[in-house]
Amino acid sequence: MSETVLDMFRRNVTDAPDSPMLAYFDGVLTVGDVDRVSNALAVALTDGGFTRGDRLALYLQNVPQYVIALIAAWKLGGIAVAINPMLTPREIDKLIADSTPTTFLALSELYSDDLATTLDRSSVTRVITTSAVDFQHANDARVLPAERLSTPVGTDDLTDLVDHFDGQTPEVLMVTPDDVAVITYTSGTTGVPKGAMNTHHNVATGGSAYRDWFGLGADDVILGVAPLFHVTGLSGHIAVAIAARASLVLSYRFDIGVTLDMIRAYAPTFTVGAITVFIALANSADVTNDALSSLATIASGGAPIPAATVERFETRFGVYVHNVYGMTETTSPVLSVPMGTRAPVGAETEALSVGVPVLSAEVRVVDETGAALPAGQLGELAVRGPQIVPGYWRNEIETSAAIKGGWLLTGDVGYVDDDGWYYLVDRKKDMIVVSGYKVWPREVEDVLYTHDAILEAGVVGIPDPYRGETVKAYVSLRDGFTVEPHELVDFCRARMAAYKYPREVEIVDVIPKTATGKILRRSLRDGVSR
Ligand code: AMP
Repeated sequence: MSETVLDMFRRNVTDAPDSPMLAYFDGVLTVGDVDRVSNALAVALTDGGFTRGDRLALYLQNVPQYVIALIAAWKLGGIAVAINPMLTPREIDKLIADSTPTTFLALSELYSDDLATTLDRSSVTRVITTSAVDFQHANDARVLPAERLSTPVGTDDLTDLVDHFDGQTPEVLMVTPDDVAVITYTSGTTGVPKGAMNTHHNVATGGSAYRDWFGLGADDVILGVAPLFHVTGLSGHIAVAIAARASLVLSYRFDIGVTLDMIRAYAPTFTVGAITVFIALANSADVTNDALSSLATIASGGAPIPAATVERFETRFGVYVHNVYGMTETTSPVLSVPMGTRAPVGAETEALSVGVPVLSAEVRVVDETGAALPAGQLGELAVRGPQIVPGYWRNEIETSAAIKGGWLLTGDVGYVDDDGWYYLVDRKKDMIVVSGYKVWPREVEDVLYTHDAILEAGVVGIPDPYRGETVKAYVSLRDGFTVEPHELVDFCRARMAAYKYPREVEIVDVIPKTATGKILRRSLRDGVSR
């Protein structure tokens, strides 16, 4: 496939300029609006010296400006650098030092003095700020700032720039499929963030994969509950919306009440997000059983999905949650549950299958030497295909460690069954070794999730003078439930081998997670949840 998402966008501009593309609270932008605004922004960027191959950092929540800026950068052959809006200046500093952007686009309310100082000392020569209350009028106080802040000193306001260059178009420039479209930093649950280079080809493959796998088209409306800076947002929201010419509903960040209002207003038909979003919806008393009825298809990826959660969700809302497995480095879907089928649960464990290879993805289970293993045997998942990044930004060492002979080594341990369904057991690095026995935290978490009182669970190994490591579970409880730690220990003991069940259970208010719903086991090990 040589078509890029930018080509697809340009085709939408020609074929259907009036079709809605982005909804944001009560604001709607058509394909033509997005084209016009991104043209003006592209001209403004050029005016500031931005040129082909330059990096534009995006430090934004789920706002229309994210999509507009992405398209503007692509029109100039530029590369977007996706930055998690929850990161602090100290963390951003590392990403900036790595990706050396020349232009930085930030939400005004995220633009602090500390960030200004950090950017001052960096490669960034121009800061553009933008307001979360632009492109809508509702000013929903649940998530948006109360008022439009004045433009921070030393920055240009995006709307001012767009007004100034309105009606102008940048010189038409062809981007090639191998050009880097976005640098997406891996979530860093295990260590130093690495910038995956998602090329235009990768992003087009990711978007088309979502479109074709879930059968999405121009009548579909996508609910954007995953963060846009993450690859699920990039492929499962933005790229798929463009590839299918569907519209995308954005609402700053996930909030149950706001999401329900957006569902009522726009009747979305598809969404993909972290399982925590669906756990939150299923556990909220504010969500009626028919509240999600427009959502014909729901997918969830990015973190393990307990089988019990999918069952509970379907019982309550009548919608089946399709598991999707992918990584930043795979530009989203690699394995998923085909429409109309249900993921089986592994014979040996409680794990729900992550599905079968999606379209062009090739997946195999390999041993330490990289040799393919037969069905049923545990090994590392390796992936090949047009969605795999060529490597990490300016990091040959990590690139050659991760990609061998065209196969990306995922760091995920799993197996395939005789029918071709894949199962993840856990992250290689999270394995706990108890007296020489391997324990996969995920398996213990899945058992905990079958207990009615459990909202979320995170399991880690803690040092043990006798066994080397021992299993400890952190859990949060569903509203209205009480349970004692020792009851949970007994519950697990009755369901798993003696070396596996947690010897300690600690009840906490909140399980620490990344923005994409991955349990931060590192924080649990450090005890920061307390
Ligand atoms: P990221 O790069 O943030 O997308 O994280 C990728 C990692 O998330 C994978 O290597 C898996 O460990 C985990 N992951 C993604 N999707 C799933 C899924 N459906 N089930 C379990 N783990 C998943």
